[in-house]
Amino acid sequence: MENLDSFSTDYLFYQSRKQMPFIERAQGVYIWDHTGKKYLDGSSGAVNCNIGHGNNRVANRLAEQARKAVFAYRTQFENEPAHRYAAELVTYLAPHLQRVFFVSSGSEAVESAIKLCRQYFFNRGQKSRHQFISRTPSYHGSTLGALALTSYSPLEIPFRPMMKAYPKIPAPYCYRCQYHKKTKCNLECAWALERAIVEQGPESIAGFIAEPIGGASTGAVVPPRDYFGVIEHICKKYGIFLILDEVMTGFGRTGKLFAYEHWDVDADIVVMSKGITAGYYPLGAIAARTEYVDEMMDNGGFSHGHTLAGNPMGCAVGLEVLNVITENRLSENAAAMGKLLKAGLERLKKRFQFIGQVRGQGLLTAIELVQERKTREPFPAEQNIHFLLTDEAYDEGLIIYPRRPINGLKGDHVLVAPPLISTRKEIKELLALLERALERTEAKLPATTLG
Ligand code: PMP
Repeated sequence: MENLDSFSTDYLFYQSRKQMPFIERAQGVYIWDHTGKKYLDGSSGAVNCNIGHGNNRVANRLAEQARKAVFAYRTQFENEPAHRYAAELVTYLAPHLQRVFFVSSGSEAVESAIKLCRQYFFNRGQKSRHQFISRTPSYHGSTLGALALTSYSPLEIPFRPMMKAYPKIPAPYCYRCQYHKKTKCNLECAWALERAIVEQGPESIAGFIAEPIGGASTGAVVPPRDYFGVIEHICKKYGIFLILDEVMTGFGRTGKLFAYEHWDVDADIVVMSKGITAGYYPLGAIAARTEYVDEMMDNGGFSHGHTLAGNPMGCAVGLEVLNVITENRLSENAAAMGKLLKAGLERLKKRFQFIGQVRGQGLLTAIELVQERKTREPFPAEQNIHFLLTDEAYDEGLIIYPRRPINGLKGDHVLVAPPLISTRKEIKELLALLERALERTEAKLPATTLG
């Protein structure tokens, strides 16, 4: 690669000014930068590169479709990849979710989900239903509608005056229970949904949205076993849509193709992106309850759509990625490798006192970092321990995904979520790199901060 050290990066900006190395190439679970340094991708990019990098089969399908037809506008032509993919995707979803709508990202999919609910109620004359309840903390995307459902203060604060203040209920987070329960859990965080509906007036509520397993917000927090049973019961009782945001958890990440399968919860809408194309092309989708969509379409349709919605490229790639996942049994591999990874993280917890908790499901795992394990005392926020560990890991050649304490909740964590193709050897290598990063982090902590 040409020497990029003097190459100007002033023209393009992202969220922060931090200059990263250039990516040169990537293969399987590995990435090489422009200096030739090798990294193990322990976060699958942004927890989206589920099938790993450099998959030839998907690359070939992408090129083949690009040569055939890159675009078809939906009011002018049907396109086969979109119909084929929708027909295949629904065979893997709950039998009542047989209607699919494509977009290009997770945020757009969340927007589409809430607009679908609203349109359904609007078309049937229930015009007062326009409110959505979500959870705190949570992450549902960066566009204004999705951000209004999100409870992640660093991203929301500047934009709050521009957004609808949707009601939020506490997300399940047993390690730091928001109801301060120590032993006996009566699922207060689930029943909080009913209280919020009654408080707001049930006739004003259109839906409730949640990540099945906390992703970027809480960090791989698995809810109590009966949590979604209570949530589903409440949504049915008040006739509101239950929307599950599977943007991060979908497509095998947690050891099942969709995380809702862990509890057999009946969602009205499932929101998808990230793993749907595993980074090979931008795509998002929602799958919605058949009779709701059919009624909405019969009553006037859906006033919503994007130029690239259902384009043949994204859908061709989506179908190929789905085939790669199912033919190679990657959900099953994620379940098996997830057990290995979690057991290894538990071993690291024994060695490093500043690991407070190991959690997660399948290959969506996290470690929470604490100053004092017994009291679960977090590190001072300004210490940015999650960044310190991530930087040390980066130096060692391991990518992990850091998160800081937010919305009044304390506790730094890092997500460890390698691609679903990971082998036993690669999981062991990941754990060895992480161990070295933890050693380096520990050496940099003031002695007084370790309990
Ligand atoms: N929902 C969840 C659960 C997510 O994790 C994300 C992205 N991290 C989004 C929505 C938004 O997706 P995108 O970044 O593709 O807009």
